[in-house]
Amino acid sequence: VTLLGLESSCDETAAAVVRARLRDGVPQGPGEILSSVVFGQADLHAAFGGVVPEIAARAHAERLDIAALRALEEAGTPLASLDAVAATAGPGLIGGVLAGVMCGKGIAMGAGLPFVGVNHLAGHALTPRLTEGLAYPYLLLLVSGGHCQILAVLGPERFRRLGTSIDDAPGEAFDKTAKLLGLGYPGGPEVERAAKTGDPYRFALPRPLLDRPGCEMSFSGLKTALRRARDRLVEAQGGITPQDRADLCAGFQAATAEVLSIKTARAMDAFAVDYAADLAAAGTEAPTLAVAGGVAANTPLRAALTAACAARGWRLSAPPLALCTDNAAMIAWAGAERLLRHGPDPMDLPARPRWPLDREAAPLIGSGR
Ligand code: ATP
Ligand code: MG
Ligand code: FE
Repeated sequence: VTLLGLESSCDETAAAVVRARLRDGVPQGPGEILSSVVFGQADLHAAFGGVVPEIAARAHAERLDIAALRALEEAGTPLASLDAVAATAGPGLIGGVLAGVMCGKGIAMGAGLPFVGVNHLAGHALTPRLTEGLAYPYLLLLVSGGHCQILAVLGPERFRRLGTSIDDAPGEAFDKTAKLLGLGYPGGPEVERAAKTGDPYRFALPRPLLDRPGCEMSFSGLKTALRRARDRLVEAQGGITPQDRADLCAGFQAATAEVLSIKTARAMDAFAVDYAADLAAAGTEAPTLAVAGGVAANTPLRAALTAACAARGWRLSAPPLALCTDNAAMIAWAGAERLLRHGPDPMDLPARPRWPLDREAAPLIGSGR
């Protein structure tokens, strides 16, 4: 099956055409990405140090059809040759999600194609199936500007959340840290660059919730500690030097990587026990930890996860960065998995600002073919 996918839940306007081979009526990865167009909006939000929902929604509405046309053109697939249109139906900034759902429904209706509403998180979670045909079950660490989840991915619509952040997402913490220290937006790459020449041990920053069992995480206390450390420097010396900034970035980055990797390692150990039978049934020799989200680009975090996997005999699956951050290829793929399981969604499917994955054990909108 070949699908057009649309993504507009945050600050990327994206469209892609993906082809999935079927085996026994189930999409079999790796899928073929015929095109993947991503229009970023970082330039529109940079002055504000974060995504401005109203500006994002407007930009999506203006660019979705252009992205879709370009994706179809690059793929060389006329609308009539598609099997369905998929769009992110949540969770996300509601203005953008609405724009994508409306655009997707419009294209589907106009072309007489089925429409599928996709959970954005499912898009991220199923990406390793698109890129390498990974078999269920596997563990996923999703760390981006808006999300922080450790998920057991058990089936196309079966997820169990093993851990999450009780406050900020890690990417958000990186962005706020950058803003606090006068660095640019998006903050992650800027903080990582500055940290290269910094001393991670100079400032004693907390490791929130690490002393508690389980996989819940927290990042806002870390940010507050960082602000205090900066304020003390400003008070003592009237400002911060480039070295201070580098040391603060290095300290923050080390704390974040440590918290994320230790909590993820705990989830890996629980997963290996809980799903031993399913792993054996799938013929999986080494369980896989997959990463997704923009923060997965972070080098020290990757190193820590690589070490955690090596110590346990796990595989680490890190899709190419362009498929880790928001894109529409993952939406088209997840749309294919959903379409083949449930058939199309109704044309009055709502756009949802919140849509937790782990309550999706049963289809949300039952609509048989
Ligand atoms: P969503 O949360 O809905 O997926 P998003 O746009 O916030 O959307 P992504 O596009 O996946 O998420 O990732 C962007 C985030 O990743 C930003 O917060 C950015 O600072 C962070 N990021 C990017 N590169 C790095 C890096 N090298 N280190 C740390 N964080 C990074
Ligand atoms: Mg983004
Ligand atoms: Fe995302």
